Amino acid sequence: MIFESPDPVPSNLPPSGRIVYDHVLPEKTAFDPNSPAFIDGITGRIITRAELRRDTLRLGQGIHELKPRNAGREGKEPVVLIFSPNTMDYPVQFLGVQAAGCIASLVNASYLTDELAHQIRDGTPFLIFIHPTLVEILESALALLKAEGHDTAAIKVYSTSSEGISSDKADKHHYPSYQTLYAKLTSNIAVGYGRAEMSAQEIDDTPAVLCYSSGTTGRSKGVVTTNKNFNYLSALWSAHVNGHKVSPDKDKYVSVLPFYHIYGLLQILIAPLVEGIPAVILPRFMPETFLDAVSRYRITIGIVVPPILLMLAHHPLVAKHDLSSLQMLMSAAAPLGEGLTNQVLDRLKKQGGEKAKGLKITQAYGLTETTGASVSLKMQFVEKKFGSVGTPYATFQYKVVDDEGKDLSPGETGELCMRGPGIMKGYWRNKKATEETFLPGPERWFKTGDSVHIDKDGFIYIVDRIKELIKYKGFQVAPADLESLLVTHPKVDDVAVIGIYSDEHATELPRAYVVLSKDVANQAEATQEIADWVAKQVAGHKRLRGGVIPIDAIPKSAAGKTLRRQLRLLSDAKPATM
Ligand code: AMP
Repeated sequence: MIFESPDPVPSNLPPSGRIVYDHVLPEKTAFDPNSPAFIDGITGRIITRAELRRDTLRLGQGIHELKPRNAGREGKEPVVLIFSPNTMDYPVQFLGVQAAGCIASLVNASYLTDELAHQIRDGTPFLIFIHPTLVEILESALALLKAEGHDTAAIKVYSTSSEGISSDKADKHHYPSYQTLYAKLTSNIAVGYGRAEMSAQEIDDTPAVLCYSSGTTGRSKGVVTTNKNFNYLSALWSAHVNGHKVSPDKDKYVSVLPFYHIYGLLQILIAPLVEGIPAVILPRFMPETFLDAVSRYRITIGIVVPPILLMLAHHPLVAKHDLSSLQMLMSAAAPLGEGLTNQVLDRLKKQGGEKAKGLKITQAYGLTETTGASVSLKMQFVEKKFGSVGTPYATFQYKVVDDEGKDLSPGETGELCMRGPGIMKGYWRNKKATEETFLPGPERWFKTGDSVHIDKDGFIYIVDRIKELIKYKGFQVAPADLESLLVTHPKVDDVAVIGIYSDEHATELPRAYVVLSKDVANQAEATQEIADWVAKQVAGHKRLRGGVIPIDAIPKSAAGKTLRRQLRLLSDAKPATM
């Protein structure tokens, strides 16, 4: 059975042929240009809407002037890579890239050399914005690519901070500040260069953002989010949030999710720019700074992931902060348990008294491939449909299919498939993976890789994950990435990586099952050695916190495919933590 979103179609849908920049930062809006768009949660520095527009237009012009002459549409797309943790400059750089009519490739800020090299190799950027703390990783990735024969000398590198970067004492590598790219603001600055020659349809289909996701299988791939995907999702999300009656006068968001992830990126742009609600930016999640920001800025809305709720349920510092301003916590990116939801509600309501009595915790669901959250549970259904992630935003269609792709009925469990304006164009320069992720046929039903059931009212309940993907605290861990590294270890003959759920940490933990080579005498020593070796080469969230477990043979199908389900059955509920 095919379901239609129950949401009414908003009257202010973005017109065709609009680039992301014009959608989120148009010249004229109803909001006061001198009102804060972003507030630095640590220093209190403010960027107003007018400052943001001025700086992003100037940067856009500067980036445009750096574009290679042959930057075109097919194979030579103008990609700009941003490798930085959350900062106040991040939205400036992102919107500068959009103003220049370029594509922003966003990199997980905890990536190490190989992971970054993969994304540079894949995206072929002409320009990189690098945070000062990540220069060494960038340089080793560029050295690796150079050794492979890539023309890295042609890539221009700028610092993401207002200071330039000298990466060694001899000042051999000087990366100027991105602000040195600011062009003089003139009246003929043309936002979204090149679009004059394009039709509205072409502009809609032009990639705006590349965030990376492993999808249902394999290594991480660039998810092509187009201008239309981005604008629609932001308009539909806004319409949904408006149902919660947010307003610039009374509301404030806290933004702690990483901006390189589509979920964090959209929130940071929609709330302050499309909704006019100031966003307090924090570099990363730390209990103290998060709690401090909520109480200092009287935050009303928090966009969170389950581990943040875990902290709110248990951390002793919670008792020392006034969190009574919080009215809505929206959790997404990973499963949220009923027990945890109730613990947080009980604690914060008790602590906040009368003021906190309206607090609600709701869920959103989505994928990088659906332009982030595209399903959520409206506040009026939080109690009635507890445990559901809600219904998709306006204009989406959705259904559940069995292993053969046949439609199932309400209540039956199978794979969730979706159609709608947020569904990505495809994987970057990867036709095969793109084709495989849609059901066969012209209708382009996107397969989410999540096992769900839908009740008769159309509410979606997540049951399990069918795809290989592991999520550690909302961060993606692609088993294929870890497996391709692990098989290069001399003591590993074969390997399979799965996720095991830990209630204690409210997250999955990546666990490797390894067939150790015959000459290994001490298994305990070897598995520890392997875990340590992996930890040195991958981003923190990919560490094998679920353990390295020796096994005689990896269960495989006749076709040689790893039977991950069998491994999951083997795994005990209480994983070892590292
Ligand atoms: P990503 O592309 O990194 O956003 O990961 C998308 C995946 O995260 C989905 O396919 C789900 O497996 C998982 N996910 C996202 N939101 C939720 C949620 N509310 N509950 C359970 N799993 C979720």
